[in-house]
Amino acid sequence: MSTTFQNAPDERVDWGASLPFFVLHLIPLGALYTGVHWSGWVIAAVLFYVRVFFITGGFHRYFAHRSYQTNRVFQFILAFGGTTAIQKGVLWWAAHHRHHHKFSDMAEDIHSPKRGFWWSQVNWILCPKYNETRWELIPDFAKFPELRFINKHAWLPPTLLGGAVLLLGYWITGTWKGAWGICLVGFFLSTVPLWHSTFFVNSLAHVFGKRRYATRDTSRNNLFIALLTGGEGWHNNHHHYMASARQGFFWWEIDTTYYALVCLSKLGIVSNLRQVPERMLNRHLIKHGATDLGMFQKHWERAVRALADAQTRTGELAADQRKALEELVAATKAKVEEIAKLSSSKEPAVEV
Ligand SMILES: [Zn+2]
Ligand SMILES: [Zn+2]
Repeated sequence: MSTTFQNAPDERVDWGASLPFFVLHLIPLGALYTGVHWSGWVIAAVLFYVRVFFITGGFHRYFAHRSYQTNRVFQFILAFGGTTAIQKGVLWWAAHHRHHHKFSDMAEDIHSPKRGFWWSQVNWILCPKYNETRWELIPDFAKFPELRFINKHAWLPPTLLGGAVLLLGYWITGTWKGAWGICLVGFFLSTVPLWHSTFFVNSLAHVFGKRRYATRDTSRNNLFIALLTGGEGWHNNHHHYMASARQGFFWWEIDTTYYALVCLSKLGIVSNLRQVPERMLNRHLIKHGATDLGMFQKHWERAVRALADAQTRTGELAADQRKALEELVAATKAKVEEIAKLSSSKEPAVEV
């Protein structure tokens, strides 16, 4: 994957501080010593899918986009449940995500794959520059003291969950060795694919898949990521109309997070699930010839340079002509980014 944007000198992984992140990938190997009771695998599957819901239905569709409403108690449950996925604090997560929608795939986008795959997948999370919550982007939820508390003490929910799984393991097996086997698989092992499937939405869902809508970013619709993440793989749909509680816009676009939200609304726990307006379903369709600014931005510069390189080699392009072309490319690039920014300011990540 080629990189379009270079990182600033202070955009680097802090390898020392990130050690726990890497160590957690290896901790489940301890199960080779302890052995695992079959229930450990069941707990792993349950904790994977339940926490996927808390991230997608909670952190993403509720806290970042306010695509539905709920009461204050369930709001806290969503925040607490999502935090057990060990993806930092709820306000940190949602505020950075709003920033992503504001600047998708522009130079300001913190986790665009245009900075390289690994940067968009994990490295940006391990960069100390982005440790702080961007309070200015999430004033609507920052006013709740219980959310600020859980955002600050993001270690607490996963610690309580891990401890609960350990005790459950002891209750099931009657030994601490058996309990650790269940905890290592049920809690720790399930966390690793949970992390990476969530992160795929930032990386692969901007690289592989189909584009239905012309957006100013590189988002794609990807069934594989949708199945892994409870429907978040319909990312091109989502960038097209981010206020919607459903990301699979059509019945064949599987979106289990939305199905769960519908069930919760039938129980009266959540309400006002926002839908995609009919006019938006058919707007900016690529098959109808809509101008695809996102793809144009991604490819045009490289295409011009490749052509210029070939013409320089054959002598068709003299040095002074090449210099003039480079200046034109730089000026055009600035203009295109300006146009993309203008369109982004019209599309807030959240309609408060
Ligand atoms: Zn995106
Ligand atoms: Zn989003």
